[in-house]
Amino acid sequence: MERKSVALSTQKQKRQRKIIHFDCDCFYASIEMRDNPALRGKPIAVGGSPERRGVVATCNYEAREFGIHSAMASATARRLCPDLIIIRTDMEKYRLASSRIHAIFQRYTDLIEPLSLDEAYLDVSDCDAFRGSAIRIAEAIRNEVRETVGITISAGIAPNKFLAKIASDWNKPDGQFAVLPNEVEDFVAKLAVKKLHGVGKVTAAKMHKLNLKTCKDLQNFGADALTEHFGSFGERLFQLSKGIDNRPVSTDRIRKSVSVENTFDTDLPDLDSCREAMLRLLPKLQKRLDRLDRQYSIKKQFVKLKFHDFVTTTVEMVSENTDINNYRALCEQGFARGERPVRLIGVGVRVEPLVSNSLSPSGNQLSLLPELAEMPEQRKRTEHERNS
Ligand SMILES: [Mg+2]
Repeated sequence: MERKSVALSTQKQKRQRKIIHFDCDCFYASIEMRDNPALRGKPIAVGGSPERRGVVATCNYEAREFGIHSAMASATARRLCPDLIIIRTDMEKYRLASSRIHAIFQRYTDLIEPLSLDEAYLDVSDCDAFRGSAIRIAEAIRNEVRETVGITISAGIAPNKFLAKIASDWNKPDGQFAVLPNEVEDFVAKLAVKKLHGVGKVTAAKMHKLNLKTCKDLQNFGADALTEHFGSFGERLFQLSKGIDNRPVSTDRIRKSVSVENTFDTDLPDLDSCREAMLRLLPKLQKRLDRLDRQYSIKKQFVKLKFHDFVTTTVEMVSENTDINNYRALCEQGFARGERPVRLIGVGVRVEPLVSNSLSPSGNQLSLLPELAEMPEQRKRTEHERNS
């Protein structure tokens, strides 16, 4: 009896997984176009106003033709495209659309891992719909989202999360792409290293110096050499380069913190430059907080500094908001611990989920002070963000 159950579970582990990564196409902008069809075909952005130093949260494809992208200062966006229509962000509306999309997902599987309001992984390995065809399940979900929510969503289908996420970008917008198990090897061989999760600007530049441009190059370089050059990340890089990723689709993804960080091309020499760089990260932090798939309350604020010798320090304080003066003070304390050039800065909050699942605005919602939400763009993106 016992032997039988062991055999069964081994069989189950070996079975091919079917993961779908869904990602709405220019989500906020799509919702606004849905609600006001006169906007269709025109360049639009959703975000803060240029007069108040606002930032673009999302823009449609027409706006992207002008070089506009998210996190760009609205004033810059307007300069690039004088006809740009800028619409104020309406998070409650986007949250409602998101919950309707999730209700559609739920009809096919309970194994859903939301990444943000407009993105999620689904594990459909055990879903019997369409005789278990993940490709047809993805098509059906995309059709239902189009018909009932009124926006388009793209999908990537693959044996794991890493490949599914890359695949959802392949035929975007309003498309899907599958990497079948027998295609994984060929697919990753040609894949550029910058597509790998965790490989940002700095790591990619280092790889290019070593002439590592594709996953095939990483495979040939070998696990040992990768560890030698990239430390503990080396082993993971080797796995990814072979298309291996065993991370499960995790349904109880409760966040403990939300943060944004940036590694600088040139070390920041002093406290003033650190403080300035830190302030530039705050609009990005706000965007992350806005996009959380559920509601949390803030418990602490923190600042992380990594000095040029890679020594890292994190300073935090109890807080219920993202007070800008607290961040200034934390940055100062952190810098005082090292008093030497800084290569990386992170800012964030420790959070706890709110018990209520309500979609209505609550007094405890995450939001920055108004002047913070209107801060100018941050110019560089972090290693992590680039890939997320
Ligand atoms: Mg999206």
